[in-house]
Amino acid sequence: MLEGSRRWRREGLSIGLVPTMGALHAGHLSLIAEARRENAIVVASVFVNPIQFAPGEDFERYPRDPARDAEQLSGAGIDAVYRPAVEVMYYPGASTRVHVAGISDRLEGAARPGHFDGVATVVSKLFTAVEPDRAYFGQKDAQQVAVVRRLARDLDFPVQIRVCPTVREADGLAMSSRNAYLDPQERAAAGSLSAALRLAADAYAAGERRPEQLRSALQARLEAEPLAQVEYAEVVDPETFTSPGSLAVVAIRIGTTRLIDNHDLSMRFPG
Ligand code: AMP
Repeated sequence: MLEGSRRWRREGLSIGLVPTMGALHAGHLSLIAEARRENAIVVASVFVNPIQFAPGEDFERYPRDPARDAEQLSGAGIDAVYRPAVEVMYYPGASTRVHVAGISDRLEGAARPGHFDGVATVVSKLFTAVEPDRAYFGQKDAQQVAVVRRLARDLDFPVQIRVCPTVREADGLAMSSRNAYLDPQERAAAGSLSAALRLAADAYAAGERRPEQLRSALQARLEAEPLAQVEYAEVVDPETFTSPGSLAVVAIRIGTTRLIDNHDLSMRFPG
């Protein structure tokens, strides 16, 4: 456990944890703002977690900007930043992985082997280090939310999992550190993600409930974008990530960049 957490606990102060991989944007800051509202102490972690990247993914080139992150974090009124080195997080020879069976194997998990084991392992270690009362995650990564909720419940972590809405650009694109990879043409093409979700939400609002109709509406809108390769488009249950349900989840690849988004179709798409 971190020294600061030990002291805050002794003083009876509530602790909110916001785990991030840095390259901070308004989505991260919204999590911090919510944590600020609900806790006496807010800790942000900044750690690009090597074990949640599958072989051949973008671990090496993942955007890192510690100076800008530090500026944003101090502006957001953080009490402490936990920024462990890789060798501190994973002692040489560390080989333990936390596996949340079921959810971890579908959709994002199937596309990114080992990804959710890496997420579940690092989140468990962050909970142990910081001992937060509440931990904040973005709805942007809906399947990660399902994995973390299950993990906290199954391993009896005494932490409340809080989920904050997806923060979007003006055209609807979900903010993501990976948007920085996109050139202007690709950035325009990325609009197809939110356009597809909006279309499916409109169909749902008009009374469409047949999962296959909703799924093919998503798929067709994504396929209409020539620069996008569709990885999946599904309508699933938000806890189990199996069909049927009302959470639309989509993943595309534009050039070398992989983007995901989701929306609960029972709600109006924002904007
Ligand atoms: P990351 O740094 O990408 O690992 O994200 C750290 C946290 O911020 C995760 O809980 C994400 O779900 C959340 N997050 C990322 N993008 C957004 C967004 N656009 N809106 C809200 N939360 C987000």
